[in-house]
Order: sequence, then C-alpha cells, then structure tokens
Amino acid sequence: MKTCTKCGVNEVIIEKKHSGQRLCKDCFIQGTQQKVLKDIRHYKLIDKGDKVMVALSGGKDSVMVLDILNFLYEKNIIDMSTVTIDEGIKGYREDGVKIAKTHAKRLGIEHTVVNFKDSFDTTLDDIMASNSQRGACTYCGVFRRWILNREARKIGASKIATGHNLDDETQAILMNYLEGNIENLTRIGPKTISRSEMFTVKIKPLREIPEREVGLYVIARELEVHLAGCPYSSDSFRGEVGQFIKQLSRNHPTIMYSTLRGFDKLKPAIKYEFAREFNMGECISCGEPAAHEMCRACIFSNELDQNKRSL
Ligand code: SF4
Ligand code: ZN
Repeated sequence: MKTCTKCGVNEVIIEKKHSGQRLCKDCFIQGTQQKVLKDIRHYKLIDKGDKVMVALSGGKDSVMVLDILNFLYEKNIIDMSTVTIDEGIKGYREDGVKIAKTHAKRLGIEHTVVNFKDSFDTTLDDIMASNSQRGACTYCGVFRRWILNREARKIGASKIATGHNLDDETQAILMNYLEGNIENLTRIGPKTISRSEMFTVKIKPLREIPEREVGLYVIARELEVHLAGCPYSSDSFRGEVGQFIKQLSRNHPTIMYSTLRGFDKLKPAIKYEFAREFNMGECISCGEPAAHEMCRACIFSNELDQNKRSL
C-alpha cells in the first residue's frame, strides 16, 4: 500500500504528477479546500460582506464551488444565493436542475431557476431545430451571460461565482490565441470587472484546480453531481483544444500551470495594448449593457424571430 506523502498513514487516492504529491482522501480534500480558499484571498476574489451568486448547473464544477464557498457562508463572511439556468435541452437539463435544487435546499441557500423560454421566448432545442446561423454554444453562452447578469442585479449580488477550472481556463487562453482573438484575452482571468457598472463582477475560485481533481473532490466528498454531457457539446473547437492539452499533459504534467502563469504575466501588456476610451451604453431593446446600439442577446433574439417569420 502506498501511503500519503502528507500524513504518512492513509492509503493514497491521487498522485499529483505536477507537484509530486501522493495524497490520501482526507489530505486531498483538506489540501484542495485550502488551495481554493488561498486563491480567493490571493486574487482578492471575495470581500467580507459580499453577496455571492453561484451559477449552479448541478455539474461537478459548480457543486464544488458551492461546497467550498459554503464555508465562508457558514462563518457569516459572505451571503450566498444560487441560480440555475434552464436552456431548454430536453433529456439533459432536467437532472441538473433537480440536483442543483437538492444542494441548495440541503445547505439552506436561496435558489432560483431561470429558463431561456421565459427570457427569450425560445429554447435551445427550438433554436437548433430551426435554420439557426450559429453553433449551439454561441447562443447558449450569450443568453446565459445575459440572464446571469440580470439575475445578479435583481437579487443584489456583488459577485457571480462560476465553476471554471484550470482545464477550462487554459483551453480559453489557447483557443483565443489560435483563433487570433487577442482582445478577448483581456477578459480572461480569476476576476472579471467590466467597464459597465451594470455588469456584476465574475469570479472563478477553481481557476487553478485541474478538472481531474474537481472530479475526484466531488467523489471524495460524496456530493451528488450531474454527470451527463450536453448533447450539443460534441462538435466544439473547445473539445479539440481540450484533447490537445490533455495529450500534452501526459508527458508534460505542468503544462496547464505554465500556460496559465505565462498568460498572467503577458496579460498586463495585452491590456495596455488594447486600452482605449470606451463607454458601454445600454441596449435600446432590453436596457442591459451593450457595446453597440443593441446587446448581443437582443441581436440574436431578433435574428431568430426573423428566421421564424421567414419559414
Ligand atoms: Fe450550452 Fe454548449 Fe455548454 Fe451545451 S455545451 S450547455 S450548448 S455552452
Ligand atoms: Zn438587449
């Protein structure tokens, strides 16, 4: 039996190739929680008295965020609420909503479900069944951001916490490099503060936790999570980039951390390069913050309405 390099007593459940640590269940749980709480302090993600709205899909990442932020909630350091977005994906989203509800109820935390249908009078299934011009994730991302932002303002949240992990973040960095979307890189980081005060600050407490460890954490903590994959995720460029990074990580276990550290060093220069006077206005249709006359959610929504009428 291999014993834990930290306590020297219990059986190992994980070997962390990037750090050389071999940990037992208890030391892994404790070490992971400490790491996330340390990152929250280091990057100043949360202030005492914040109301944090957790975007809770019921998947492993958001359930882990909720589990760890609950320590701060229980100590009355923060107030907390949760929101689940129902995109209208039949046979997929229902289970996630159920699991999210169960966790919020178990912890006694306010929980709201907001669906695409009520906000945009359509579902993602209907959009994909029509002759829509873009991929599912493009509509989904834009509509989801719109809902999250509006919901956060409605409940008076000062921060929105999402479950982005180390794999998600390195994928986003690489995808934007590869596609030449350099200005998009200025919006990647542990904490996103927008130029418009109408946008609530977004934080990513799991940004330095590899996806594999998120999976192991929820198993070790015996937390129920929604495991099914989204039926629309298969054809995404993100998936290909993710596979590429995973493959590299086999022989270069620190590659995701070095990608992240390198990017964080480069980011101030990119931000400087793209710094310009820029005033966010308000969308003439919905009143949400918008870089142009209309926000992207309203542009997409109008396009879909026109498609419907032309059928
Ligand atoms: Fe939405 Fe794409 Fe995620 Fe599915 S994979 S939930 S369509 S962003
Ligand atoms: Zn709008």
